[in-house]
Amino acid sequence: MPRRSDLVAWDHRYLWHPFTQMQEWLAEEPLVVAKAQGNYLVDVRGRRYLDGVASLWCNVHGHRHPRLDRALRRQIGRVAHSTLLGLANVPSIECARELVSVAPPGLTRVFYSDSGATAVEVALRMAAQYWQLVGAPRRTRFVSLTEGYHGDTLGAVSVGYSETFHRFVRPLLFEALKLDPPHVFRWHRRLPPEEAEAEALAQARETFSRHAEEIAALVIEPIVQGAAGMWTHSPRYLREVARLAKEAGALVICDEVATGFGRTGRMFAVEHAELSPDLLCLGKGITGGYMALAATLAREEIFEAFLGPYEEFRAFFYGHTYTGNPLACAVALENLRIFREEATVEKARALSRVLADLLERFVAPLPAVGDIRQAGCMIGIELVRDRETRLAYKPRDRIGARVCGEVRRYGVVLRPLGSVIVLMPPLSLRSDEAEHLVRSTAQAIADVTRMA
Ligand code: PMP
Repeated sequence: MPRRSDLVAWDHRYLWHPFTQMQEWLAEEPLVVAKAQGNYLVDVRGRRYLDGVASLWCNVHGHRHPRLDRALRRQIGRVAHSTLLGLANVPSIECARELVSVAPPGLTRVFYSDSGATAVEVALRMAAQYWQLVGAPRRTRFVSLTEGYHGDTLGAVSVGYSETFHRFVRPLLFEALKLDPPHVFRWHRRLPPEEAEAEALAQARETFSRHAEEIAALVIEPIVQGAAGMWTHSPRYLREVARLAKEAGALVICDEVATGFGRTGRMFAVEHAELSPDLLCLGKGITGGYMALAATLAREEIFEAFLGPYEEFRAFFYGHTYTGNPLACAVALENLRIFREEATVEKARALSRVLADLLERFVAPLPAVGDIRQAGCMIGIELVRDRETRLAYKPRDRIGARVCGEVRRYGVVLRPLGSVIVLMPPLSLRSDEAEHLVRSTAQAIADVTRMA
């Protein structure tokens, strides 16, 4: 391995990091990960850090899981990559079969891509083409939630717009119809949750009835709007808003890139509402956090609309070079087997209770903690200047970034969303590690907010 000083210099010289103010980055020495084991990352100095956000919300069973490592090695001895355009390959077939078997009822077809954003792009394109193929060409509009996030390609940004992140590409986007979610802490401020929900549903009813004929689909992150700051909504809201979409004749697209694979205490978050969407977008945890793989699952009726003689060109003309990559699919297949054989979702539910208890004891009493939102092992801790008035920190306070900087001193890696500290550990986190995670976070919040 090159020397640490060279790696740092080369990172500063050659890289451009995502979602990063590079001016700040270049002024500091980066944490360079050299290896990982279990729930820990190890840097080039040999220091260990608990992976508190599961390497951007995707690691499930820990790093270097023997079964996942073995599955990857086994597959590499066969073939690393071949295309799904005009050919099939063994792991992509087996993995699709397994995905359909764990998916909510009615989802029978798997279309692979390679990131969460592309899984959403695929769903949008399938919905748009579907309506043209079935003779409803006016259904071209999408309904999505305010502050929803669906990835960074332009279609995904159109349905998941955030002013801070996306204002520079605004002229390039198509316009989605927006619904305000029943988010009580910031959005429907001060309303009791039931009233906020009733208000949000009234707005949804209005939008769906006014635009019924032109809506192609509702696009929604079920139960938790992750990147918004872990905004949660009730299963009832999800069920109702999906029902309104269906009543309007539209499709329901659920983006479970973040919530899928046990994160919220069910295999998929839609299960909390007993909802079976028409299209389901999956990514992140699909390979246990190992490889770039995503999938869009579709109902059979949608798939069937694309069938016809070659010369009618009804096919879904969409794909990426690494679609259905055999290495990624082999790992995903093994990941799903581990879920089944090791009862990962039940263990994650137990872990979420441990986390809830620790949060209550160590984090909730801190004066700067305005709100703690938790759905399973997805947690957002919103920091405020004043708990009584919910006065927010200013961007220049960089409060989230400072807490996440501080927590590294305790051997924990976190990444915030503005003033929201995110805890989203691998589902394999042990109880003692959970305690380390939560107590370190509480200590870092206390240290930083005392000075802020
Ligand atoms: N959808 C949701 C709900 C997400 O949380 C994310 C990423 N955080 C994406 C889509 C985009 O996934 P990717 O970064 O793999 O493109």
